[in-house]
Amino acid sequence: MTRTLIIGAGITGAATAHLLAGKGHDVEIAEIGEELRVLGSGITLISPALRALDRLGVLDECMEHGYGVSEFTCLDIDGQELFTFPLPTLGDNMPGIVGMLRPTLHQILLDHALAAGAKVRTGIGPTSITNTEDGVQVTFTDGTEGSYDLVLGADGLNSTVRAMLFTQEKPVFREQGCLRAVVAKPAGLGDREHDFSGDPIAHPGFTITGPDSMYVYCNVPAADTSRPAQADLPRIMRDFLAPYGGVMNEVRESITDPEKVNYALYETIVTPKPWHQGRVALIGDAAHSTTPQLAAGGAMCLEDVVVLGEELDRAGSIPEALAAFTERRYERCKFVVDTSVQIAAWQLRPDTPGAEPEVVRENAFNVLAQPF
Ligand SMILES: Cc1cc2nc3c(=O)[nH]c(=O)nc-3n(C[C@H](O)[C@H](O)[C@H](O)COP(=O)(O)OP(=O)(O)OC[C@H]3O[C@@H](n4cnc5c(N)ncnc54)[C@H](O)[C@@H]3O)c2cc1C
Repeated sequence: MTRTLIIGAGITGAATAHLLAGKGHDVEIAEIGEELRVLGSGITLISPALRALDRLGVLDECMEHGYGVSEFTCLDIDGQELFTFPLPTLGDNMPGIVGMLRPTLHQILLDHALAAGAKVRTGIGPTSITNTEDGVQVTFTDGTEGSYDLVLGADGLNSTVRAMLFTQEKPVFREQGCLRAVVAKPAGLGDREHDFSGDPIAHPGFTITGPDSMYVYCNVPAADTSRPAQADLPRIMRDFLAPYGGVMNEVRESITDPEKVNYALYETIVTPKPWHQGRVALIGDAAHSTTPQLAAGGAMCLEDVVVLGEELDRAGSIPEALAAFTERRYERCKFVVDTSVQIAAWQLRPDTPGAEPEVVRENAFNVLAQPF
């Protein structure tokens, strides 16, 4: 039985544990957090994410807890429709986008991982990882150690595994952040993904998460990586949304509960190839972290998991499978990061000659709908 260590129990780690434990690996997860929980608000699952969730066998469950739409609509500062385009759908009865609460998605993946037999240790991370002739030796922050056949660094943007074995490169701060609030869906709001433009500073949108619920997000400039007090977030978000009218008036006034507003900063990294060394590989945000202008970061994480599973099934050895994994994933994930960063830069400087974020975004959705 393949002894597999997954470092990090985020969406990537949980999905990987579910898949590999289901394939018969003896899976152990080491999570640095004291408990297994994801903070955050909603998540937009674009069609490639849905396709990957389908291949992981959890799409129906996610659909039960989310809300699907198949059109993307761009609105002006007064909330008037500018144009609408259909979102690629990648399977029978599969919508173009599903919105759901992020902790719900995470819990579904974790539940599947645990049910498949994965064991989790919380409050620990690695202190050393050494490839040996026929395995990997890992020591942990609690003084324990273990031997594994396969080690996966699913430890996110500021990956320790990446720093230990791959590169000292640090994520780049993109001078932007995102405010997100879970709110009631306005009556009569169309079944679409909504994106607003017209203000040079704030770039908001809506993702519907249920018949009566949605989250509103707003990309805003961030001078540095400091964080406002949680209690101030509703007022700050309302202020950024103030230039927008129409349906935004009702939504803005409903943003009052600090516990329902989240602030995240945008940092990106594409780890140089290869993403594997011997029997150790990076996966998910540890390998590639993007800004969310295409809502594709999580989609790439879930595709990583599917591809890793396929390559482990196909290859003659674990190092060969990991080499094939890097080859299949690098360009596609880099495309997502580069395109998202380009849109983010145009949002920060809307007067840039040739800026055409809507065209680039629609094209990217079509590219990502291709097989991976
Ligand atoms: C504001 C924002 C909005 C986004 N919106 C979307 C969206 O709508 N749709 C979408 O598809 N994607 C979106 N993304 C991207 C998506 O959230 C990420 O790609 C995804 O959550 C990454 O998951 P992960 O499990 O790889 O990393 P993480 O979620 O960062 O999980 C890493 C885990 O590893 C643990 N860890 C860290 N260090 C160690 C260590 N040393 N030892 C052990 N454990 C460790 C952490 O505690 C954590 O549990 C968004 C990102 C941002 C910032």
